Amino acid sequence: MTKLLLKSGIVVTQDPKLGVLPTGDVLVEAGRIAAVAPKLDADAKTIDCAGHFVLPGLINAHMHTWQTALRSVAANWTLLEYFRHVHAGLATVFVPDDIHIATLAGALNQLDHGVTTLVDWAHNNPTPEHTDAGVSALKESGIRAAFFHGSPKPDPKPGEPHFSEVPHPRREIERLLKGPLADRDALVTLGMAVLGPHYSTLEVSTHDFALAKEMGLVASMHQGGGEAKTPGGWEALMARGLVGPHINIVHGNNLTDVQLKAFIDLGVSFSITPANEMTQGHGHPITGRLRALGSAPSIGVDLESAISGDMLTEARMALASQRALDNAAERGRSGGIPATSTVPAAEALDWITTRGAAMLGMADRIGSLATGKQADIAVMSLGPLAMWPVHDAVASVVMQGSGARMRDVLVAGNFVKRDGRLLRQDLGAVRSKLAQSGERILARLDVKSVSRQVAAQ
Ligand SMILES: [Zn+2]
Repeated sequence: MTKLLLKSGIVVTQDPKLGVLPTGDVLVEAGRIAAVAPKLDADAKTIDCAGHFVLPGLINAHMHTWQTALRSVAANWTLLEYFRHVHAGLATVFVPDDIHIATLAGALNQLDHGVTTLVDWAHNNPTPEHTDAGVSALKESGIRAAFFHGSPKPDPKPGEPHFSEVPHPRREIERLLKGPLADRDALVTLGMAVLGPHYSTLEVSTHDFALAKEMGLVASMHQGGGEAKTPGGWEALMARGLVGPHINIVHGNNLTDVQLKAFIDLGVSFSITPANEMTQGHGHPITGRLRALGSAPSIGVDLESAISGDMLTEARMALASQRALDNAAERGRSGGIPATSTVPAAEALDWITTRGAAMLGMADRIGSLATGKQADIAVMSLGPLAMWPVHDAVASVVMQGSGARMRDVLVAGNFVKRDGRLLRQDLGAVRSKLAQSGERILARLDVKSVSRQVAAQ
């Protein structure tokens, strides 16, 4: 593999010792970062990064990539409408090819926007063929991904149990670990997207948490919106010793501070999806409540059927929503404007880099630029005007950064995007397959699709 020297960029390492290099070089060798310093000389192919930020690849900690062909269809739906129309409706007509093209296009778009690690929370797998279609699309895309295997949530047919009573299929986890996801050091690895006590019985949660622990996998679950299926379920699971660092809670808006404290003490991780939580009605993101307890979230975009896939937008949403809550609280207390801001902008970059790495148990490999780490790197242009001048590099990235300005993206030292273009050649075919898939699925709903009208002209 060629040695690469990324030269003269503004290097935002996210490494506590290295910090920001106002002008710095990053040497990449054999898929890893070999050195980061203000100036390096090496016999390597040089990539000029002057006028660019050099960042660790971003980490999207929660996304349902299978919904990519449904972009913006759910833009005006609450969580209840989303459950009814998507999970009990549209999800039931997906065939494996729909999963494949949506996952491929969704993952490629994440790469295009500087995301090098994607937690693909795949919960529309009615058959092993659907599952394999998602896994193979992630592999094909070139992204680093955790495929979180989950089961669909249709309305039960007569005589069938409700999904909340169905344990996670052990056979499928075993099959994936013996077959397509056997290599735990590969770019695409396995996790479990389970129901948890909010959406399943205690018996099912107990089974699923224990299975994840036995297999050495992260078990991630949605928590929020509406009544819990099993009140007191979390406390019972903790008493059984099944809650620990392998547990990832998504949303968590309705958890009490006592519960949050107990989870943090046990090493549980949290992933929030601020834009979607505020849009669909989950409640306020728990960013500030985690901060008050000495913790912090990772962030995901959740649903491109409802919101944007740009992680920098999402980081700003999380920051602004928490500052708004804190500012409103201060106004309530004193009637005036707070003297200082509560959340530094720099924390928002942690949420989409180092915190995502920690959530996956991969902090030793990804999330920052330092010697020995995987060479997952995003090079973002300052643009002709958009980001000049740079006074505080991290704040500039958070407040003015955009996935749309990523010039180069590398995963494990390989370019997937170069000079502003994804290296994959057949994006036109990907787009048309994605549109056709979306049309077919949406035929179930009365949606006047613009892409269908454009195609007809
Ligand atoms: Zn979700």
